[in-house]
Amino acid sequence: MQTIRGFRDILPEHIRLWQKVEKEASGLFKAFGFQEIRVPILEKTQLFSRSIGEVTDIVEKEMYTFADRKGDKLTLRPEATASIVRSYIQHKMYATDPVRKFFTIGPMFRRERPQKGRYRQFYQIDAEVFGIESALIDTQLIFLLNELFKRLGLTGLSAHINSLGCPECRPSFQKALLDFVTSKKESLCKNCLRRMEKNPLRILDCKVQACKEAVQDAPATLDHLCDDCETHFKTVKTSLKAQGVDFIVDKSLVRGLDYYTRTAWEIQTTTLGAQSAVAGGGRYDGLVKELGGPQTPGIGFAIGFDRLVEVMEQIEKTPEKEGLDLFIISLGEPAMEKGYLWSCELNQAGIRTEIDFRGKSLKALMKRANKLNAKYVLIAGENELADNSVILRDMNTKDQVSLSIETLVPELIKKLKLTK
Ligand code: AMP
Repeated sequence: MQTIRGFRDILPEHIRLWQKVEKEASGLFKAFGFQEIRVPILEKTQLFSRSIGEVTDIVEKEMYTFADRKGDKLTLRPEATASIVRSYIQHKMYATDPVRKFFTIGPMFRRERPQKGRYRQFYQIDAEVFGIESALIDTQLIFLLNELFKRLGLTGLSAHINSLGCPECRPSFQKALLDFVTSKKESLCKNCLRRMEKNPLRILDCKVQACKEAVQDAPATLDHLCDDCETHFKTVKTSLKAQGVDFIVDKSLVRGLDYYTRTAWEIQTTTLGAQSAVAGGGRYDGLVKELGGPQTPGIGFAIGFDRLVEVMEQIEKTPEKEGLDLFIISLGEPAMEKGYLWSCELNQAGIRTEIDFRGKSLKALMKRANKLNAKYVLIAGENELADNSVILRDMNTKDQVSLSIETLVPELIKKLKLTK
């Protein structure tokens, strides 16, 4: 049996960096006033088609959608924003305090063509903020991402930002775009011809090379912003500068989801080849209302967890080896029983202790202690037990001392805690 294409196991030897990121991210989120939220992996299909947009790659081609036994159409979430917006509305959070900041970490599912950095089950670290109109929150989210990546030791990243306008300025942009793409009709793929009718903005992120070339000089939302959107974007830029966050204004950045308004951004890396975006986000001031809540501004981002770890693995060439505090070698059945009890007590005290139950020879067990990278080895054989003592060997210095078994556990706890 093998995993499904595009799905993978994250094996224990890779978990350390995942945990490091989770710890750093949740600490930072908490400091910035975010609360953790956990939402279901399965939702009604309609939630995603209505929010992400019917004519988007995600909804048209990539969702894992199926009918359950009653015939209800369900979808494995392709992203977290829609579910968090649903939750915000369902629990009427806007009524008690409209200003909410959430983060969540978990798996997402998209049936894309798998390659390095692109999986069909992948993980995102997601943050969403509701109820804040000010452009300073846009800046703060980009600043937060920057800070997180800095703490994780990442370099060579750049923030690409754009403004996608609002319902006020969209019509003028859409008209200009439609005129432009109509003039390029001959060069567009079949899908884009269909998009032209239904959602011309999506032509701008078509992956087909001919389409990419055709839209190179397409009109940009930035050139069609209304005064309010212009001012909003200006504030984002000046406040990012004031905080020393580097960014590149990228007129062609449109993101693949329909709900974005105003600021949109992507953090890109040069180290992952084609899959260069490690995080993406943007404002979605119309989404809460679109999904049935009151008019409430919203903004958020998602970090590609798998990609982030891949970048970190490239930086960290020699990962630090995890090891045990103590490995217990019990020779003979009575020593095994004692050793087992000691190991449990030490485990309870938070000392990483292992005992081998297989009754192997001293030589084989010393080999295993080395393999497990144990700091200390405790040797309890029949002779030692007969005079109520055991041997403690420091694997680093090779020094050995004899310890009395009467006070063994408290002494070991004291000693091994000091070495942590
Ligand atoms: P999006 O939800 O499309 O805005 O994506 C946000 C981030 O999630 C991207 O910048 C990627 O880092 C990551 N991501 C999106 N799709 C995938 C995928 N199929 N495999 C791995 N990471 C992904």
